[in-house]
Order: sequence, then structure tokens, then C-alpha cells
Amino acid sequence: MTIKTVVPLFSASLVNSRFDLASALKRVLDSNSFVLGKEVAQFELEFARHTQVEHCVSVANGSDALELALRAVGVVNGSRVACVANAGFYSSTAIHLLGAVPVYVDVDAHSLNMCERALAPVLETRPAAVIVTHLYGQMAAIDPIVRQCRAAGIPLIEDCAQAHGALHAGRRAGSFADISCFSFYPTKNLGALGDGGAVLSSNIDLIAAVKALRQYGWARKYEVTRICGRNSRLDELQAAVLREKLPVLDEQNAERRAIAARYNHAFAALPLRLPVSVGEDFVAHLYVVRAERREQFRAHLLECGVATDVHYPIADTMQPLFGGRRAAEMLPVTLDACASVMSLPCFPGMTSDDVEHVVKSVRSFF
Ligand SMILES: *Cc1c(COP(=O)(O)O)cnc(C)c1O
Repeated sequence: MTIKTVVPLFSASLVNSRFDLASALKRVLDSNSFVLGKEVAQFELEFARHTQVEHCVSVANGSDALELALRAVGVVNGSRVACVANAGFYSSTAIHLLGAVPVYVDVDAHSLNMCERALAPVLETRPAAVIVTHLYGQMAAIDPIVRQCRAAGIPLIEDCAQAHGALHAGRRAGSFADISCFSFYPTKNLGALGDGGAVLSSNIDLIAAVKALRQYGWARKYEVTRICGRNSRLDELQAAVLREKLPVLDEQNAERRAIAARYNHAFAALPLRLPVSVGEDFVAHLYVVRAERREQFRAHLLECGVATDVHYPIADTMQPLFGGRRAAEMLPVTLDACASVMSLPCFPGMTSDDVEHVVKSVRSFF
């Protein structure tokens, strides 16, 4: 028997239904300019302004953004880079691409973001850089993390791939660290119709490095000044789509947050651990709860027609790639989270009835 899914985890058609994306695409077709043209230049200005950072360099995807940002801050073959181990291996992938080595920091038990107390001893071992990920759209404890990295003189990279538009003390995610990275993968809070990414910084030297690295290492056309340049560009079609969607990002984030608030209220008395904030420092990229009997709970929800997923089931240290070599690293909170986290549907365009159906289905398990 196949079970009809009543509420999906995400719906690109619902998220995009309010936009006239066809006109944006047509505009690019008519321009006959497809790479690094006007749309990209405008989007970079608009996204930098929205993020409250001076400069934005768009790239092909969020993983490239991390890789180029690491290179820009001086990470090289053999460097050690601190990051968390519960965020889907994205940081680790970028670190490995440079021949560098991830040094894993445990997460905070409430926010599931990098624990600033766990970071302190790692900074004493002098990593070449730190990546802080604002996981699920919840901003990490960015003030103490920035303070510690500054004091140690170690560059900090914010991974904002799940946190477009999040605010802390009136400032956007991505405006705190030395350099920040975004992804515009279709399911992200600001999503393209394909891959896309960006690197932002107010430091002109870092921006010059990323600009060169995204295009063959060129300082200007055909003049190569940097090794390990890449071809990593956002195209005009995606930039035009993102320009349509950016003005509505805050509104769509508020819609996500309202769903999360409704869930948090409805589930308050249940034996679940819930997201810690439904304030502006949370843009509800994913609504993640922690449950004891996760697999039975997910099977029950599937029977009710509610899609769920696990972000993410395998800690970086436990990936088969490492063949058990890193399993002994002490990350108790990370391992506990990987065993209990699960995501419920939460996206703009979800109807009130959909939310109610999820609430009833969740409640009926307990
Ligand atoms: C999606 C994501 C990335 C990678 O972005 P891509 O565009 O898929 O390469 C990196 N970090 C985090 C936290 C993400 O969620």
C-alpha cells in the first residue's frame, strides 16, 4: 500500500507560486547575457545591502562559497579548521577540498549550534580558521564566538546557508564574522531554480581574493594573480530569479516563523525537545524536534500523511569515510542530536489546515 502524503516537507511550487519568475527569466533571455552580467551585479548589490555587509560576490553554490572563503582567509594544505559535526558534512567537504583537516567542536544542547565553551580549548590549539554554522535557521551564539576568535586572531567564517535574513541585535546573520557564505539551493529560505551561492564580507582584501578565485584566479581578464582559481559563477537566470524573491524574503521568513511558533505552542506539553527560539534570530529553515522513539514517531506521521526527514542522521565524525578513525572524538551532544533529531513540514505557502493536520498527527502519537 502506498500512503498519500498530505503534507510534504517542502514544496517549491507553493513557495514560488506568488512570484512571476517567467518574466524574470524572459528578461534574461531577451538580454542574451548569461554570465556575470547586469542581473548578477544588481543582485550582489541588493543582497549585500539586505545582509548589511559591504560586498557580495556570487558563486555557483554554497559549497563553493565555503571553499573560496576558506582559501581567502588563508587556509592551506595541512591547515586545521574548527567546525561543528552535525551540519551535513558541508564544512568538512570544503575543508577537505583544500587539503585541510576539520577539528570538530561539540554543539550546545539547547540550540544545537556550536558551543562557545567547547570552542575555547580548540582555539588554544590555533586552528587556521573557524566556521560557525547557523543551523536550521537558528543563529549561533555569535557574540561570544566572534569575541573569542578576535581575541585569538583567528578568522571566522559564518555559514548562513540556512539562515538568510536572521537577525541578532538588529544585525543580519552574515554580518558578524570576517566573511560569510550563503547557498541559494532551491529549498533554502532564499532559493533559486537551481544552484547558487554567495560570499559576503566588508573586508576588501578578502573580497578581492574571492572575486579572483571564482574566475580562474584572474585579477582582471586573462591576468592570473592567484593559484587554485576556479570557475564558480552564479548565472544571470538564477540572479534574476533571486532578485524577484529577495524583496519578499523577510515576509516569507515571518511566515515560516509563525508556523514554528504555532508548533512550539501546540507541542509544549509533549515529550519532545523543541526549537529554542521563535524570535527574529530564527528563520525556521527547518523545524527540528528531538524525539525519543524517532523511528516509530516518523512511521506514525507517515501513516498520517505527514512527511518528515532527519537533518542530519550521521555526525561528521561517524561518516564511513573516516572508517571509525574519528569515532572516539568526544562530541556527546552532537551524537545525541543525530540519534533524535527530525524535521517537520515548515515552509511558506503551507496552509493553516496543513499546519493543523501536522499538529493533530503529532499529538495522536503520544
Ligand atoms: C545547503 C548547505 C550548504 C551547501 O550549499 P550547496 O549550495 O548545496 O552547495 C552548506 N552549508 C549548509 C549549512 C547548508 O545547509
